[in-house]
Amino acid sequence: MQTIRVSILGPPGAGKGTYASEVARFFGVPHVSTGELLRQEIRKGSELGRRVATYVSRGLLVPDDVVNELVGSRLSQGDCAKGFVLDGYPRTLQQALFLEKHYPLDKAVLLSVSLKVAVERLSGRLYCPNCGETYHVSWKPPRKPGVCDNCGSRLVRRRDDDPEVVEARFREYWRLTLPVVDFYREKGKLLEFDANGDSRELAPRLVSILAGALAKTST
Ligand SMILES: [Zn+2]
Repeated sequence: MQTIRVSILGPPGAGKGTYASEVARFFGVPHVSTGELLRQEIRKGSELGRRVATYVSRGLLVPDDVVNELVGSRLSQGDCAKGFVLDGYPRTLQQALFLEKHYPLDKAVLLSVSLKVAVERLSGRLYCPNCGETYHVSWKPPRKPGVCDNCGSRLVRRRDDDPEVVEARFREYWRLTLPVVDFYREKGKLLEFDANGDSRELAPRLVSILAGALAKTST
């Protein structure tokens, strides 16, 4: 049976979620986001979830063995038999080695985005702490600057989206993930994609490039 196993790699602000969900929809396979898996496990309050929560609440990265366990058990479920699109995984070489051993990828897509674009995207995000509505200063500005259209509350920016924090997250991502990129490049599985434009416009292009590349590898 032909399977489609893809991971979308890229730093914060690259638009991984948008691309991953478009690719998953096109190929009819699940979009597996590690961020979402971790949040679900915390909500379930399982033993693993409580361990995950101790790292997340202190702003620490969840250790590789914990993430591997979580992703491994998700990928073993029936709906992933035809494949999957990973988002946020693998982030480290240890994770990539685990994945390659158990569920080898067909392609790893690297979304390249400049630090300037990432900062612009993420630091422009605002949300309403009262009703939860989200805005962006450039693409979805509120009618009155800094004020929620729905309820009139003052809009705030998540601390994670402060320019200095975005820059630190961006550098940390590359420090951990560059070995992953090299790993897939050496295996001939890396597909680089310039993601500096609007992700909604670019996603269909990535889908068609990927479909072509996968057709080639399967023959
Ligand atoms: Zn509001």
